[in-house]
Amino acid sequence: MTRLLFMGPPGAGKGTQATLLAEKLGIPHISTGDIFRANVSQGTELGVLAKSYMDKGEYVPDEVTNAMVRDRLGEEDARTGFLLDGYPRTVDQVHTLDGILDDLGEKLDAVVELVVEREELIARLLKRAETSGRTDDTEEVIRHRQEVYEQTASLLSVYADRGLLVQVDGVGGIDEVQSRILAALPQAG
Ligand code: AMP
Repeated sequence: MTRLLFMGPPGAGKGTQATLLAEKLGIPHISTGDIFRANVSQGTELGVLAKSYMDKGEYVPDEVTNAMVRDRLGEEDARTGFLLDGYPRTVDQVHTLDGILDDLGEKLDAVVELVVEREELIARLLKRAETSGRTDDTEEVIRHRQEVYEQTASLLSVYADRGLLVQVDGVGGIDEVQSRILAALPQAG
């Protein structure tokens, strides 16, 4: 049974590594960004609202995001483990997640942070922007998203204080970084 949070700045390879890790551990990969994007492409009410924030690189309001995560973690497949990617991102979300897990009688096993330096990230994202077609991949929005992410440092220290934070160097090939993550995890390494 594995319950993980996966954190890292935009462009750190978080999505790729999170997908591989969840597959390897046989747990659902729950990405709030992916859920929002799916809603945007389906044109749901949630999607229309989320898009207005995502296009500016801003966070979707906590009450909307929190309700979505509470629903998702309550689903059957998430009861035996999950890898939560891109959430929590605010102190309010940290507290909400504590409450959701308390209500479910569950505890986190680890919080993985992929560490990559800022200018390397911006270079990677500008390259991805050439092909992604994402409307939030302009240079201005990319820089803004990095600044917004840097405000999550205080969340990481909350998890570090709880002894849950596992920091992994995110520079290298996909397999190399995945091996580092697996080796660093208490239960999978
Ligand atoms: P991501 O794919 O994780 O970079 O997320 C893309 C966008 O979705 C973000 O820039 C936010 O607008 C929104 N988003 C994803 N996760 C959250 C979250 N936990 N809280 C608020 N907004 C979020």
